[in-house]
Amino acid sequence: MINVAILGSTGSIGTSTLDVIARQSDKFHAFALTANKNVERLYEQCHQFLPEIAVMVDEQSARDLQQKLKQDPKTAHIDVFSGRSSLDEVAAHEKVDYVMAAIVGAAGLSSSLAAARTGKRILLANKESLVMSGDLFMQAVQDNGATLLPIDSEHNAIFQSMPEKLTRAGAKTDIQGCLQASGVEKILLTASGGPFLNKTFDELEHVSPDQACAHPNWEMGRKISVDSATMMNKGLEVIEASWLFNASADDIQVVIHPQSIIHSMVSYNDGSVLAQLGNPDMRTPIAHAMAWPDRMDSGVEQLDIFKVAQLNFEQPDFERFVCLKLAYDALRAGGTAPAILNAANEVAVDSFLKGEISFTRIAGIVEQTLNYINREPADSMDVILAADKHARRVANDLCSGLEPE
Ligand code: NAD
Ligand code: MG
Repeated sequence: MINVAILGSTGSIGTSTLDVIARQSDKFHAFALTANKNVERLYEQCHQFLPEIAVMVDEQSARDLQQKLKQDPKTAHIDVFSGRSSLDEVAAHEKVDYVMAAIVGAAGLSSSLAAARTGKRILLANKESLVMSGDLFMQAVQDNGATLLPIDSEHNAIFQSMPEKLTRAGAKTDIQGCLQASGVEKILLTASGGPFLNKTFDELEHVSPDQACAHPNWEMGRKISVDSATMMNKGLEVIEASWLFNASADDIQVVIHPQSIIHSMVSYNDGSVLAQLGNPDMRTPIAHAMAWPDRMDSGVEQLDIFKVAQLNFEQPDFERFVCLKLAYDALRAGGTAPAILNAANEVAVDSFLKGEISFTRIAGIVEQTLNYINREPADSMDVILAADKHARRVANDLCSGLEPE
């Protein structure tokens, strides 16, 4: 039995992971489930999956959950912990084999890193960890013999389309410097373009949070849905790919592909282009990374190629999707620039979701924050976390219409 800790089990990725585990219960046990404060959902999941440990970051929520679990002899044995450090403890728990890192945002960094430091198989959905601290994160993976498998559908597709010798040990750092030597010319990172691909700039000014979260092909949490609409999600993914596959900004080409059937491609120097296709359902990359290097049933319907009929591609417009350009710039600038970009974006998206700023203001907040803070070499976690904190302060001021201090 493989013990899996699911960090962020009540979210979109967490729920899909549990769906896969339910189909593969002879191989996988949901050993630990964690959530922020959704007591009802975590209670239901505990009831169905009977983990050993449940974590609610929020203390009151943890007390409420514990009380509910104690009332039923079936669930009374489950240990309930609270606080952020419990996430790290669960990720590093000696009985845990695989860690699904599916917390949203910078809040997932510490626990993803704890999994790397304890040599786990990391199923990485939390792209923000790599964006913030790619260098240190990859180093921790390598130093501790962890295996890093991408859950993000594009990166999972790239992983599947990479030469086998580069992926033998998972997306570990032994692929470093090998891309060109293995004949890889370019990574073609596909993007749906989100719900506003064909809206004019003026129309964008007045879109609501619910419109921004109505993604045409994927059902996701609200933060990543807004990121898809601004295309910051693709920008974060460019940075994520650069770390996972040791690629430079120039090695990665974003391709708009509105149907989301091709999940990304790798182009080779002999003219071959390898792609991974499938219905847009996150259970495919989740099952792939859990079973790797084998395959298993994920519950995803087979792709009906005749029903798809058409696949379209277009170049992204960097003037329209400013966030994508800002992310490329941050990757090229290096150091703490991606951490600043990420933090400012989290604050701006949150502010947009609360109805405080307009959709088009998000890019402006991120750009102004990047201009305001000097980037530094990202050579320690302290430096990265300080940059994250500083960027949040500046972006918060900008969202409130204040001059940053
Ligand atoms: P979501 O909002 O649906 O779920 C987030 C989960 O994290 C919840 O379980 C929540 O309880 C937990 N959480 C939120 N804030 C927390 C905090 N401060 N501390 C601890 N736990 C906290 O998000 P999602 O759509 O499942 O995305 C999760 C991650 O996966 C993100 O990094 C996202 O970019 C990535 N991802 C998601 C998808 C997708 O299809 N949803 C695809 C690719 C990558
Ligand atoms: Mg993705």
